[in-house]
Amino acid sequence: MAWRTRKDGRAARRPAQRRSAAKPALVPRRVVVTAGPTREAIDPVRYLSNESSGRMGFAIAEAAARAGHRVTLIAGPVALPTPKGVRRVAVVTALEMLRATLRAFRESDALFMAAAVSDWRPARRLSGKWREKDKGSPAANLPLVRNPDILATCGHDRSRPGKLVVGFALETSGGIPRAKRKLETKGADFIVLNDERALNSPRASALILGGDGTVRRLTDRTKAEIAGVLIGLLGRP
Ligand code: C5P
Repeated sequence: MAWRTRKDGRAARRPAQRRSAAKPALVPRRVVVTAGPTREAIDPVRYLSNESSGRMGFAIAEAAARAGHRVTLIAGPVALPTPKGVRRVAVVTALEMLRATLRAFRESDALFMAAAVSDWRPARRLSGKWREKDKGSPAANLPLVRNPDILATCGHDRSRPGKLVVGFALETSGGIPRAKRKLETKGADFIVLNDERALNSPRASALILGGDGTVRRLTDRTKAEIAGVLIGLLGRP
């Protein structure tokens, strides 16, 4: 099934007033959604992670399934129930999420990358507990290595042309210029910009920045409402 594309291969956009998730999709899309944090093991009992609750990604998956799309939800370690009609793939680390997301993305029409992927992971996972404090030093260094950027990998993948790619940006300052740069560097059609108040909260405010310069502001909405608007980006044939 061909995605409606612009000449440059990116997804075409519909006017804002026509975006709605309320009516069932006429043509189901294969939609991949990522959600939640990743968890990067230091040793058998400790890890690096973040405060992501997974709610935004789960809300997008639910809205997409309700609209009649075929949804694969790639979820980090969160206890949320799987929305009805959604296929869930459970992952823990960024590397696991990369593998699962890329595999699903190649068979899909759209990606919503809502997961809070850990940028770093410990350079090695210790088989026993990290005993650094036994050295008696008041400070310690934990060597980290960079995790792959999953959104950018998909955004620049050979299967990318004709697919809708939506990323997120959570910024505490300088959000708009950073989000605009991410559109380019990560190969996304849209970046949904929010701030730390969205973490672990049922509500959020967001700016949806389009690669074509469009900006849509959503103020103090439930995550289900934001998800509905985002699923509307899939458009209608
Ligand atoms: O660069 P930053 O982490 O702010 O970008 C956020 C966007 O990039 C989100 O959509 C997030 O899911 C994605 N991301 C990713 N892989 C990473 C880091 C972020 O896919 N390693």
